[in-house]
Amino acid sequence: MNKIISISLIILTLVIPAISQSNKNNKEVKNVILMIGDGMGIAQIYAAMTKNGMQLNMTQGTQTGIATTYSADKYITDSGAAGTAISTGVKTKNGSIAVDTAGNKLKTMLEYCEEKGMVTGLVSTSSVTHATPASFIAHQASRGSYEDIASDFLKTDIEVFIGGGLDHFKKRKDGKDLTLDLTKKGYTVIEDQNQVISFKGKKLAALTAAEHHKKMTEGRGNMLPESTEKAIEILNTYQKGFFLMVEGSQIDWAGHANDAEYNVAETIDFDKAVGKALEFARKDSNTLVIITADHETGGMTITGGNIEQKESQIHFSTKNHSAIPVMLFAYGPGSETFSGFYDNTDIIKKILPLLKINEK
Ligand code: MG
Ligand code: ZN
Repeated sequence: MNKIISISLIILTLVIPAISQSNKNNKEVKNVILMIGDGMGIAQIYAAMTKNGMQLNMTQGTQTGIATTYSADKYITDSGAAGTAISTGVKTKNGSIAVDTAGNKLKTMLEYCEEKGMVTGLVSTSSVTHATPASFIAHQASRGSYEDIASDFLKTDIEVFIGGGLDHFKKRKDGKDLTLDLTKKGYTVIEDQNQVISFKGKKLAALTAAEHHKKMTEGRGNMLPESTEKAIEILNTYQKGFFLMVEGSQIDWAGHANDAEYNVAETIDFDKAVGKALEFARKDSNTLVIITADHETGGMTITGGNIEQKESQIHFSTKNHSAIPVMLFAYGPGSETFSGFYDNTDIIKKILPLLKINEK
């Protein structure tokens, strides 16, 4: 009996400090960085990993999840409905941008965060008016209404956006130049990507391509990782907590084109941007980083390969999206919430409580 008591005491003295230690490390979530690889399935991730010497940043996420992606009206989603599901928690029709199946506006994660007094940003290699970034800031029945989506950027208090889409702000059918309105609202408007790195200030609208940025395989260079780093730097100066969405937009387009080289280059580039987010999160310790995809594109599979030669044999089964559920990697405080198999509408339901925001 005495032996049992003394063993129990030993266990307690070992366990109690361990528990209080883990509580001490249980930091609050102040910032959220959501990274979306458009069209990035697990084959895309593994092909990029193989090419990159069996190493990626995104796989350093300490928790993994899998999410289903079907939309309200189709088994296979598009980026509008999937972006809306992730940003609002509501399934809608393909082609819709943050409106429900009846066309009513849905509040987005970015808008919830703005309402709470946080600062926000969007970064993409496509035009910022394209479906994925648009799903976080605009409300339109049709993803093709690029000029109306551009107008919606003036209706929020977003602090930073970096991507393409200058023509949707400046060369419009209504003759308006929205870059003038942005300047009036306090933004510095930058049209040259080379000026992004040296920017010092509080509000940045960097529209650094007429429409989309170049392909990685045609010389886009470091645009996405450097823009991610700059957006984090700007948002962090406010010290109010921030929400940033970063999209690797063109993994999807490489999937549609069934172009393996383009696909791998885009996924590795996206992963470099993930590296910038993780680098910040490691130092900060109050930042949750989520890396996921809106859907898979190309029905990509790998039928052979060689680790030493950093090669994989890639095949595509469609020129369109597939129904295959997508991976999610989570790093930082609250990341344990993301372990499991769920639907893409559950992602926001996991994020908002960590920020102490009530969904309504
Ligand atoms: Mg997209
Ligand atoms: Zn697509």
